[in-house]
Amino acid sequence: MNNDSLRIRSSEPQQSTSGGPDIGPHIPATRVNYLRSLSKIVHLSDEAKAELESVSKQYAFRVSDYYLGLVDWGDPDDPIRQLILPRVEELHEWGSLDASNELSVTVAKGVQHKYKDTALLLCNKACGAYCRYCFRKRLFMNENDEVMHDVTEGIRYITAHPEINNVLLTGGDPLLIRANRLADLFSSLSAIPHVRVIRLGSKMPAFNPWCILDNSELQAAFRTFSGGARRIYLMAHFDHPRELTEPALESIACCLANGLICVNQCPVIRGINDDPGVLAALFETLSYIGCPQYYVFQCRPTAGNEPYCLPIVRTWQVFSEAMRRGSGLARRARLVLSHETGKVEVMSVDARQIYLRYHEAKDPADTGRLLICHRDDQAVWLDDLRPVDG
Ligand code: SF4
Repeated sequence: MNNDSLRIRSSEPQQSTSGGPDIGPHIPATRVNYLRSLSKIVHLSDEAKAELESVSKQYAFRVSDYYLGLVDWGDPDDPIRQLILPRVEELHEWGSLDASNELSVTVAKGVQHKYKDTALLLCNKACGAYCRYCFRKRLFMNENDEVMHDVTEGIRYITAHPEINNVLLTGGDPLLIRANRLADLFSSLSAIPHVRVIRLGSKMPAFNPWCILDNSELQAAFRTFSGGARRIYLMAHFDHPRELTEPALESIACCLANGLICVNQCPVIRGINDDPGVLAALFETLSYIGCPQYYVFQCRPTAGNEPYCLPIVRTWQVFSEAMRRGSGLARRARLVLSHETGKVEVMSVDARQIYLRYHEAKDPADTGRLLICHRDDQAVWLDDLRPVDG
């Protein structure tokens, strides 16, 4: 294929009109529609709609009718509702839009290179729905132009950097890109000898599993480009066991059957999954279906995230208790902060101190470095902690 014209166009997922699994009366099996306006949600009062519209003007709102169908409207604290519906507290001045300073590792438009062997291509500007706690919500704002739809420059950069052996396609959600364009991108990356792994960071198995199930062209691309010594990994994003519906599980089975390796990663979010029983159930089911938990993230202090972020110590307590309850295969996850300086693992917390370690570092010399900080039960980010020897 010709890299000189490698342009990616986003699309709504391709839907077939038949062949969806039988998933009961609340979940449409054939066509998934997207809502961009809160005014369309019949379960909300006019007053609530008016109040929340101002939030959705600041931070984008979008949801599929399938995902909205998972909400228990009788429960105001329902976790799926919390994940998808804006809250007025998002407008509190708090955090920053680029909390991990991704701009500092942006080497070309839409290309990030922070860790030696990994490059990120921000190749789509939309997601199937917008998680309220999103750490990249800046991409969905009108004035943002960090995403590249023309990946030519990214391919050139990766080709010129033989140390890059894996490439994460992200954004936004790469599985919202048309299958033929995604196949072109797989083809270009696969033609680079040193690229051995392509990772797809996607929440589509949760937001709209039919975008995989009904997309034979996408499945064929998976089969073509994932196999042997080169693999495509699906970095799925399930936050709560209620997202693991029958079609969602089928979409993972479909990815596995078509040659992908699947893992899950998610943050711990107040009101959504900050309960050890919920997280343990999530990890357990994911381990059964061949999509084990990989990273668990501390919620980033991104603007608008104040109602969703827990202190590090509380996240650790939820995470470590969930790990204790799980079986061995469900217990391989690591709790990390995606900090500007690196991926910092929370190793342990005792009465006086928090023990952290650079799992990966922007400065390679820091990789593996231990950090011991004074325990602070209010701290939400590494910058809030005070090193013991500092
Ligand atoms: S799926 Fe990821 S990128 Fe998309 S809205 Fe959710 S957190 Fe943000």
